[in-house]
Amino acid sequence: MSIAFIDLQAQRHRISDKIDTAVRSVIESGAYIMGPQVREFETKLSEFSGAKHSLGCGNGTDALVLPLMAWNVGPGDAVFCPSFTFAATAEVVPIVGASPVFVDVLPDTYNMDPDHLEKTIEAVKAEGKLTPKVVIAVDLFGQPADYPRIAEIAKRHGLKLIADSAQGFGCTLNGKHPVDWADIVTTSFFPAKPLGCYGDGGAVQTNDDDLAELLDSLRVHGKATKSDIESRKFEHDPKYLNMRVGVNSRLDTIQAAILIEKLAIFADEIEKRNEVAARYNEGLKGYVAATPFVIKGGVSTWAQYTIEVDDRAGLAAHLKRENVPTAVYYPMPIHTQDVYSVYPLGPGGLPVTMEKAERVISLPMHPYLEPAVQDDIIAKIRAFNRG
Ligand SMILES: *Cc1c(COP(=O)(O)O)cnc(C)c1O
Repeated sequence: MSIAFIDLQAQRHRISDKIDTAVRSVIESGAYIMGPQVREFETKLSEFSGAKHSLGCGNGTDALVLPLMAWNVGPGDAVFCPSFTFAATAEVVPIVGASPVFVDVLPDTYNMDPDHLEKTIEAVKAEGKLTPKVVIAVDLFGQPADYPRIAEIAKRHGLKLIADSAQGFGCTLNGKHPVDWADIVTTSFFPAKPLGCYGDGGAVQTNDDDLAELLDSLRVHGKATKSDIESRKFEHDPKYLNMRVGVNSRLDTIQAAILIEKLAIFADEIEKRNEVAARYNEGLKGYVAATPFVIKGGVSTWAQYTIEVDDRAGLAAHLKRENVPTAVYYPMPIHTQDVYSVYPLGPGGLPVTMEKAERVISLPMHPYLEPAVQDDIIAKIRAFNRG
């Protein structure tokens, strides 16, 4: 039997009747775009994380572009983000014409280093070429960034804070979700993410009423909002009064219907993911250079279970021979990719990012990984390290 890196079928089997019924009901209803399931899912998503507003959108990348558009971030502006992340985190910045400025990560959590963030903001201000505007923190591999510190720094410097929670949606710090600190939380429902759908999808969450209204407009071609209509006369459908240049980025009704069913078991799945992580931790501690470290008070959703080893190529080849799939997130930090190498780095460069990119390797992780299979994976890793 082959081991899956992420077993989406195991989850499907658990709720396949519910999902099939949900999908069929959308197909039969004919409300394919912005059907009632979208609103229902958005409401449930808000309840789940205690956010005031949740809005679906096309994918996790658009979810990052939308707030940058809402805040008029553009040429001459600096957006601070990590380089040790998926490309989309930085990609959205040049999409709106602004410049990413890369910040190093902490050696234990791999999330944004608040001290380096502060130094980087000060360096950009001192240089005077770019105007600092936004910080994008990432909940890498599922665990929350150090939001209390990052939010304090962002606020003190007058910057907006985006929590890119594509991997960490559902994570908490001291019992609170990232929306408690960030101006906006963005997520992706790409199938392999902890909360995924059966195609592309994404969402934004915020406690800011005005921002939510603006984002709702921007995701539908800049359609008039309630506030826009109040200040002028327009007797037709407000979606034909286009107040700003927006985009087309909606969550599909079918995907929303699927997500309603998946969200219902998500809290249970996060618990299961944490059980799987705890079993790996126990089995691997002392046998690999580092097992994952979660920030104090944090609960990870374990998008990835990532260890550090000295001989990564050797371990990957060994596990491949043993039919255990592994993956490297991320082999090439974004600032080292040709197209992103033109953008500035924080003072001293990104030594931690560079070191970790050589040492990390991710193991099979999903809520339905059976203990016996996991023990087998652990035994194979231990056998490699005994040489
Ligand atoms: C997956 C991911 C995204 C982008 O999500 P898509 O839905 O694929 O556009 C953004 N940021 C991070 C950290 C991701 O892992």
